[in-house]
Amino acid sequence: MTRAQKAAETRRRNRESNERIRQAREETSRVVASGVCPYCGAGLRRNSSMAGWWQCEQFGAEGFRKDSTKPSCDWQGFTQ
Ligand SMILES: [Zn+2]
Repeated sequence: MTRAQKAAETRRRNRESNERIRQAREETSRVVASGVCPYCGAGLRRNSSMAGWWQCEQFGAEGFRKDSTKPSCDWQGFTQ
């Protein structure tokens, strides 16, 4: 592969990964707008430690999630 071909290949890959990130953010935004976790149907909450970070309210260990009597859930996503 020539240098130019390599550079073009890198640009193509970057474009693809940017597109994947954009789609993932869009998907997260749709979930956040719905207010319901797509995995377990619980509510959602924002994690203020990073901008745009949303998690299922059942995310995390006992004592962190909203209802410790219900199973934990690992849904999370970013809107930005
Ligand atoms: Zn959930």
